[in-house]
Parts: sequence; structure tokens; C-alpha cells
Amino acid sequence: MFISLQELQLRTVRFKVDIPQGEIEYDNNITQKSTLHAEGTAQLLNHSLGEIRVWGKLAVTGEALCDRCLESATFPIDKTFDLVYMPADEASSASENEVDEAGIEVGYYEGGGLPLNDVLREVVLLALPMQLVCSEACKGICPACGGNRNQRDCDCHAEAMDDRWSKLKNFRAEVGPRN
Ligand SMILES: [Zn+2]
Ligand SMILES: [Zn+2]
Repeated sequence: MFISLQELQLRTVRFKVDIPQGEIEYDNNITQKSTLHAEGTAQLLNHSLGEIRVWGKLAVTGEALCDRCLESATFPIDKTFDLVYMPADEASSASENEVDEAGIEVGYYEGGGLPLNDVLREVVLLALPMQLVCSEACKGICPACGGNRNQRDCDCHAEAMDDRWSKLKNFRAEVGPRN
């Protein structure tokens, strides 16, 4: 669906969409694990400046690789959003998103309007947690043997600890006893 500036000049546009998996390309190996459902409203905020406000709610399950163990992890997203888009030629730096003084996310569009899928992609990326982990308790990958510590407990961790202690002992030996 395309949110056209021409149409917005005549009326408020409402949308209710179900986007199948694979239709929107996300960054960073993030994919949709479910149909994305979104509904909301687009409105021209300021006719002369061409500012488009898009708000509503979105629900989808995203999938990405866990930052710690690199296994795929799912991220349920159920979020309300409220975004403002300005024409790219009005902005000094296009395409990069900025947060204005009021804390509202501001994006940019080019030409006669805004593809709704671009908005939805933005909302999904903003909704993802900073750290993508399969679970808070994820033990990650062992830096020594490369094994997934969630699946198998290796002995490397204990050795690494021993190594740290021996380094400390050596350090003490070099520095010498206190006083
Ligand atoms: Zn993990
Ligand atoms: Zn290991």
C-alpha cells in the first residue's frame, strides 16, 4: 500500500493490512516469522510542509540470530507507534532517522508519498530490543571451544577461571609482597 500525498491532501487515510512473510526486507538478518498485522491512520500534519503523521498498532513475530549463541530466536512484537515523516528535500540529511526535541521519531520520504511497508519496517526495527538474545539466561558461545553453552556444558569455563587466577598469582609474584 502506498500512502499518497495527493490522497492525504483530500482525506485522512486509514489502513488495515496483513503483510505475509518475505514481503518486507529487514536489516541484520531479521525476518518475519508470522504474518504482520497493522492498522492505523495517516494524516497530513501540515499541508504546506508536507509532514505526514502515521500512527497505529502493529503485531508480528520477528526472528533474528541471538547475539550471544547465534541460534535463531523469536521476538514477539505488539506495539503502538506514532511517526512523523517529512519530505526528504526539506531535510539536511535524508534517510537517517532522527529524534526531534519532543522525542518523536522523524523519518523522511521522497516523491509523492510513503510506502506503508517502509513505515512498518521502521516500526519493527525500532521495537526490537537493543540486545537480541534468545533468552536472558542464554549462556552464549564458549570463546575457547566454540560450543553452544546452552546445549552442552564444556569445561573451558573452569579452565579460563584457573588461568585468570594463575595470572593474578604471577602478577603478585612480580609485584612482590606488600610492605
Ligand atoms: Zn542465545
Ligand atoms: Zn568450551
